[in-house]
Amino acid sequence: MIKRVFVIGLDGAGNAIKDVETPNIDLIIKEGAYTYEGDTARPPISGECWGSLFHGVPAHKHLLNNDVVKKNPYPEDSVYPSFMKLVRQEWEDCSLAAFSCWGPINRGIIEESTNCYCISKPDKDLIHEIIDYIGKNDPRVLFVQFDDIDDKGHTYGYRSKEYNDEIRLKDNYVGMLIDAIKKADMFEDSLIIVTADHGGGGTDIKSHSSDHPLNTKIFWGCYGPTVNRGFNIEEEVNIMDTAAVVAYALGLDIPDEWDAKVPGGIFR
Ligand SMILES: [Zn+2]
Repeated sequence: MIKRVFVIGLDGAGNAIKDVETPNIDLIIKEGAYTYEGDTARPPISGECWGSLFHGVPAHKHLLNNDVVKKNPYPEDSVYPSFMKLVRQEWEDCSLAAFSCWGPINRGIIEESTNCYCISKPDKDLIHEIIDYIGKNDPRVLFVQFDDIDDKGHTYGYRSKEYNDEIRLKDNYVGMLIDAIKKADMFEDSLIIVTADHGGGGTDIKSHSSDHPLNTKIFWGCYGPTVNRGFNIEEEVNIMDTAAVVAYALGLDIPDEWDAKVPGGIFR
């Protein structure tokens, strides 16, 4: 039985983790269900991609992009609620948390009405905030977005040494989160999802906005008590399916309006 879901998002990581040593991420995804061939939103840019992850639809439906998410709160009358809103509607008093280095996720993608505990700080500070939070709270859903992998891609080039080193550092952070989850006695009844919003270096070594596979392919994996172990997902996985997996894992109906689906074979 899954009581809570952790969604850990690595901005700009694409599917590069398959070429970099990432023992902690591997423990989660390879001991669970995973793919290195996931697909993300178009264009493969953070506003569009995180928008699809939360709202379960492609970008042409949720209409979010980097400009929109920086300026406006997500409309409460949208027919595409985020999984956070879905969870809030089911459990009025539960704890919801989002630790996003990139602040627009907290303000422009997650609806204000969710009363989600939202923190935005640099990765290196965020990790300690999250560990502290996990030690003191029992969230129904906790979302994490680390930003520095994408930053290193833009600065030094995707797949550069600096970029790969940052992936290793974020893998350490994932290990620290797993330790915190275990210490809080939550590991055995949680679903943990790890993914990226997009990759980079497709057409331009320091960018990620074109439809090149290096930009659009993402890894996606989840681990939990009801997840098949060591299952390489054969069906196509899209970033928006994350929303359906969160809802399904917590026993909620998947809204008809979502295009998100639970990829076959993930759950036992
Ligand atoms: Zn970027």
